[in-house]
Amino acid sequence: MNKKTIKDIDVKGKKVFVRVDYNVPFDENRNITNDTRMVRTLPTINYLLDNGAAVILACHIGRPTEAKEPEFSTKLLVKHLSELLKKDVKWADDCVGESAEKAAKDLKPGEVLLLENLRYHKAEKKNDPEFAKQLASLADVAVDDAFGVSHRGHASNSGIAQYVEVVAGFLMEKEINYIGKTLENPQHPFVAIIGGAKVSDKIGVIENLLNKVDTIIIGGGMAHTFDAAKGYPVGKSLVEPDKYDYAREVLKKAEEKGVKVVLPVDLVIADKFDKDANFKTVPVNQVPDDWEALDSGVETSKEYVKALDGAKTVIWNGPMGVFEFDNFAKGTLAVAKAVAKATEEGAISIVGGGDSVAALKKTGLTDKISHVSTGGGATLEYLEGKEMPGVKAIADK
Ligand code: AMP
Repeated sequence: MNKKTIKDIDVKGKKVFVRVDYNVPFDENRNITNDTRMVRTLPTINYLLDNGAAVILACHIGRPTEAKEPEFSTKLLVKHLSELLKKDVKWADDCVGESAEKAAKDLKPGEVLLLENLRYHKAEKKNDPEFAKQLASLADVAVDDAFGVSHRGHASNSGIAQYVEVVAGFLMEKEINYIGKTLENPQHPFVAIIGGAKVSDKIGVIENLLNKVDTIIIGGGMAHTFDAAKGYPVGKSLVEPDKYDYAREVLKKAEEKGVKVVLPVDLVIADKFDKDANFKTVPVNQVPDDWEALDSGVETSKEYVKALDGAKTVIWNGPMGVFEFDNFAKGTLAVAKAVAKATEEGAISIVGGGDSVAALKKTGLTDKISHVSTGGGATLEYLEGKEMPGVKAIADK
């Protein structure tokens, strides 16, 4: 997969449409509470500005309707974006039509324009060709830096490619280089760590990775479905009985393919699902009826560390326990430390999808990972090996 990036085109004097993912969280007064998604697009925007482009930013916030609810207006982003870019950001009260066209036409090299919420128009998610054409007409070239929406084929990241060339921004390039290229051609030993709540959310990821990895570590709530499938008592632990057969199938497939599966050998169990619950550690096959497993135990962490020793590629999705409660975050921390160590020793490590990024953040080891993916659902679908319409629309080199 060799995609064109902003470095492969001349942007001097050009109007550049940039699809960004600014679907940031807000508090009840509509103040931005986490600007990570905005900050991570700054290298792309600054590069374009420094190279003489006029930058037209397009994004969505939330799930608005065509009633154009003001709480989803991109106007809420203008002040903070101006501060981040250290320059005035102009704003158009629509993303297509007269006001957008005039604002884009008047925009000069070195200037930034933010368009109103793309999803105020149903046509965006419908990937309506006429709407895509209108977006494309604002610019000479398009840049996609919104990896978080790449698993969807919408007008602004997919349909638009019919009318104007689309190239990758730096953030998109990083996601493609790490996740796409790693899955295509990983260095071995390749270890996948799959945790989180449910097996059913991760079936696609497990299926795809079983064909590529040498070792798969299965932890978190989903491990209990495997434990139950093996006939161990699981007490009140989270399990999915309709996935027992699937769990047995995964173990069989792994054996056939020579993939080592590492499951918990001991568990931290609690007398209720609560941060202040009483807790103790027991062997995996000794969970009493009234208790539930909320974390992996110390012996399991040792197994995880051993499995990661010498790894050259590590993909981690999903926490090893209920990391939100401090007493049940130790298994996740142990894995984070082991992944950080493997990275220090030369492995490529990728963390992403679902709650993984929040779990990693809590361990304070985010900076020690090669690539922390910015997508939630998008990362998961990329790991599943699904075709990503947003990535597909980017021009090949
Ligand atoms: P996911 O988004 O699929 O990665 O799942 C993350 C969620 O799984 C987190 O909110 C964890 O609290 C939860 N989780 C992890 N381990 C367990 C467990 N043993 N029992 C219940 N929930 C768990």
